[in-house]
Formats: sequence, structure tokens, C-alpha cells
Amino acid sequence: MRAMVLRRQGEPLRLEERELPPPGPGQVAIAIAACGVCRTDLHVVDGDLAGPKLPLVPGHEIVGRVAALGTGVTGLAPGDRVGVPWLGHTCGHCRYCRAGSENLCDAPGFTGYTLDGGYAEGCIADAAYVFRLPDDVGDGPPDGQSDAELAPLLCAGLIGHRSLKMAGEAERLGLYGFGAAAHIVAQVARWEGRRVFAFTRPGDAAAQGFARRLGAEWAGGSDQTPPAELDAAIIFAPVGALVPVALSAVRKGGTVVCAGIHMSDIPAFPYSILWGERRLCSVANLTRADAEEFLALAPRAGVRTEIETFPLAQANLALDRLRAGQLTGAAVLVP
Ligand SMILES: [Zn+2]
Ligand SMILES: [Zn+2]
Repeated sequence: MRAMVLRRQGEPLRLEERELPPPGPGQVAIAIAACGVCRTDLHVVDGDLAGPKLPLVPGHEIVGRVAALGTGVTGLAPGDRVGVPWLGHTCGHCRYCRAGSENLCDAPGFTGYTLDGGYAEGCIADAAYVFRLPDDVGDGPPDGQSDAELAPLLCAGLIGHRSLKMAGEAERLGLYGFGAAAHIVAQVARWEGRRVFAFTRPGDAAAQGFARRLGAEWAGGSDQTPPAELDAAIIFAPVGALVPVALSAVRKGGTVVCAGIHMSDIPAFPYSILWGERRLCSVANLTRADAEEFLALAPRAGVRTEIETFPLAQANLALDRLRAGQLTGAAVLVP
């Protein structure tokens, strides 16, 4: 099979021919139909995140079909349309796994980081962390979405969902950074009856227009003051300077959620903007329960993703476009 492979952090991915091993016990082989490009992939490739498996096939927003089952796999059959997210494995016995917080597992496996991922024509995944998706021919809705359209749900959607839960009952929700995750969260938030305020890079009229089109009642630069005090804000941009900005925009008792896996350093800020029982927290990874919840909720909320597809061999171009902030919505690789 063809795969885009990271040999060393800081270098472009290389197109290589690889052998896909047969699935081991509890694993499935998946024929990949689409894989989304997430900002975390950039952090892995660029070296912001230390210690990836090398060589590595990045990518953790995988949609494909089950090609073969390892021994002991139940609940999946060859041909099933499935998704593979970032959480690829957990130990099952650390204090976090036992407490229902497997997203914080002490010995996790992450797809496209410590396990080979989806920038390829096929992958092997632990069947317990693979999710069935509505079939595009069988049990899917008449407006069934393509494999490429579903791919961003597997991380942008899931992490966005966990972040939105962390934001609590906020009616006035600020979203800092309007990319793949925010464009999904905005749709869910509107469906839940929340008011959305979108913050983009200053002067990014295209992203602001995109946010308004998806239901934001206000969109502006992150240097602008929103027309209403926010109940909560989610920061998707990997920019630490946005933390004091967002804290200053939320009301007393409000919450600021940092949704990214990596962020530049947070500048010092006066205690007064945290005072008033404002809360600052991060979201790390996902649990399988998050995935089940969100994959059931997305069709009910009528979530539609806006994507730009790239051939697998152009993964470096897709990453460059994401790095430069030149994408509207989400990039998806199609082998
Ligand atoms: Zn664990
Ligand atoms: Zn991701």
C-alpha cells in the first residue's frame, strides 16, 4: 500500500510503498477511504510534540471499511464503514482508566502519533477503539455524507464536542480560531440554542464570513471586543496570547477552555481577569464515550462539514495550507 511517512520531525512526509501486516488478535485491518488533516498532525510533523513513533504514518481522522478481522473481534464485519479517532488504545487499569477518564490514561496509544495512522491506503487498528459509522449504501440517511465529509468528525468533531461540554451551560459562547473544530462546534452550539461569537486572526474577512454563514451572530478579529460579555470561550488556535484575551471577555463565573494539544507560552496576566470565579482549563484527548455520544449527536444536529480534499500524495501541501491558515473548514486526504 502507499503511505505518507514521517521519517524525522521537521522534514516533509515521504510517499512510500509499505506492507500492511495482517491484523493481530483484537485488531482490524481497514481499507482507508479518507483521512482528515488535523492541527495536531502539524504539531507532530513540525516537532512541537515530542516522542512520536518513527517512522510514522500520521493521521487520526480515518474513515474506511473493515477489510479483515483479527481473532476475537466481535461487533464488526468486513465491509463495515468505520472511523478511527486519536485515542487508539488505553491500558484499562491505571487510576484514570478505572475512574472513567481514559482520555488521561498513563499508558495510552494515539493514532498517528504513537501508532501508525491514516495517511495511507490502509491501517491496523485496535477494534475496541474503532467506531461504526452510518453506511453510505445500507443504513445511512438519504442525505448520507461522503467518507471525506465524515472524516473531520473523528477529531475536530470529537474534541470540539468534549470542549463544548467543558464550557458548560454557556449561552453566549466565544470560539477563538475558526477552523475545522470551530466550524463543527458552531453548528452544534446553534442547534442547542446557544449564541456564537467567532474570533479569527485580525483582518481574516474570509474566516469571519465563514463563521457568520455557520450561524455566528458576530465574527471579528481576536483583537476586537465582542458586543456581549461571554459566558464561556473555547480556544482552538494554538496561541497562548489568546488566554488572557479570552479571560477578559468572559463574565464572572465564566469558563475558558483550551482545546488544543499544544499552545505557545501563555503571557503573564493580572489576577483580576481570573478573579470572579472564572475558570481556565484544558481538554485532553477523548474517551470512547465522547465518540459514541458525538457520532450519534452529529446527524441529529444536522452537522455538515466543509472540506477541501487533497490526493494522499499531496499531504505536505495540505499541511502547508493548514500551517499558513489558508484553509476554509477542514482538509481531507483521499488515497
Ligand atoms: Zn490507563
Ligand atoms: Zn486531531
